[in-house]
Amino acid sequence: MIISNFIDGTFTPPIEGRMMDDTNPANGELIAKIPRASISDVDAAVLAANQALPKWAALTMLQRADWLDKIADALEEIKEEIAQIESLDTGKPISLARSVDATRSISNFRFFAKFARGQEPLTFEMSDATNFVHTSPLGIVGLITPWNLPLYLLTWKVAPALLMGNCIIAKPSEITPLSADLLAKTMQRINLPEGVFNLVHGLGPEVGQAILENPHISGISFTGGTSTGRIVARTAAPLFKKLSLELGGKNATIILDDADLDTVVPGAVRAAFTNSGQVCLCGSRILIHHSKYDEFCKRFVEQVDAMIVGDPSDESTQMGPVISMEHLQKIESYIDLAIEEGGEILSGGSRAMTGQVGPNPAGAFIRPTVIGGLEHLSRTSTEEIFGPVVTLHSFSTDDEAIEMANCTEYGLAGSIWTEDAERGKELAKRVESGIVWVNTWLHRDLRTPFGGVKNSGVGREGGRWSLSFFSEMTNVCVKH
Ligand code: NAD
Repeated sequence: MIISNFIDGTFTPPIEGRMMDDTNPANGELIAKIPRASISDVDAAVLAANQALPKWAALTMLQRADWLDKIADALEEIKEEIAQIESLDTGKPISLARSVDATRSISNFRFFAKFARGQEPLTFEMSDATNFVHTSPLGIVGLITPWNLPLYLLTWKVAPALLMGNCIIAKPSEITPLSADLLAKTMQRINLPEGVFNLVHGLGPEVGQAILENPHISGISFTGGTSTGRIVARTAAPLFKKLSLELGGKNATIILDDADLDTVVPGAVRAAFTNSGQVCLCGSRILIHHSKYDEFCKRFVEQVDAMIVGDPSDESTQMGPVISMEHLQKIESYIDLAIEEGGEILSGGSRAMTGQVGPNPAGAFIRPTVIGGLEHLSRTSTEEIFGPVVTLHSFSTDDEAIEMANCTEYGLAGSIWTEDAERGKELAKRVESGIVWVNTWLHRDLRTPFGGVKNSGVGREGGRWSLSFFSEMTNVCVKH
């Protein structure tokens, strides 16, 4: 398969002709040749976006909401293809690619279309004047996304950006470019006006950097690692671009003394190992009240040992490979570090498989790994590994649990498990984090604010926060 950039409604090869490889993490085989685009391709995309902007911005929000529904309808027709391509490119189990990636990418468009229809004009009455809040598009926006939930995270930005009248330059991760290509084909199929959605493939420091530096791009919505987020902020902030940064996490799963382990154990397994632990919201540190620690460990390890790790295309597979051999080596270096730091491997820790398929020496497979015995301040327990590795820690009081939950540089998400929902809700307010779930995990209402505190990000996405990010507001004050 050879894919191209999508600029001005047309699939075009990169101007400088350079291509690079996209490989399957489950077996190391080449899947596609993709453009290694350059600044010239970004410039061409910006020119196209600039030409398309006046007409697109002139539509009403409701007209653009109709476009979002058209995109959702068209994606619905290729839903299985989306799931298959996402599973191939990322190595995630096909069942997960269907239920999360394909389904939620479509629902992102549906949600924002419906949300737009519920918006009321914003006015503020004074005794002698009325304030009308007028929103206009930011203009051209750059959307830069990671490899873990490729289409889901891209559409989470594309839908509100289009809705608010912006034209888009999108750059998906070079590791997982194929579902973005399907999205571009969908845009072409439904005749979205040329230049409204442009897609440029390539490396972060080349294409990503060119997007950050382009003076005609007014806003950057970035999801990725915290260290890349620093580069994004450093480059874009002096240009006064509007910035949204969704970054890394090291999220705590807190199990209180009154928690029901029948519910908690499968919940904690899911929070730790969904998508091979490669969800920014994954609960990679489990904090357990000391009265439940031994029982929890026993039952948690039993369930982890029983997980089916193997071929992503197999319907019964629960966990596939991690994203690449390079990432696998990084994960293994953290497992070595954990042992150096005094940790004990309670499950996993090796490439040997538990499921029916594998190991494939060319695939980036590793067993889900559970580590006990580490200090909560150890490097393994505080740095983002972004893989199927979880550390277990015991605490004695709620205060101690909160101190441990808040001890990292991150503040993205977390969960609290208790039979007393009110106690969980009160404790949640003390977790330094953008999102806290009580007795659940990854339960999303798209109207709610999504984002992180501390080094997990700046700003919020979701519902009205996304609409606000992708627009400028003018307050018009009219004297009676
Ligand atoms: P990454 O930071 O390496 O890459 C993300 C994107 O940035 C890619 O498209 C990449 O090409 C691009 N990029 C890299 N260097 C760049 C540069 N100099 N200028 C502009 N763009 C550049 O992240 P990743 O490895 O793809 O994804 C994993 C990370 O993403 C993890 O840290 C994870 O926690 C985080 N993440 C966060 C969220 C969230 O919502 N907070 C969601 C998913 C993933």
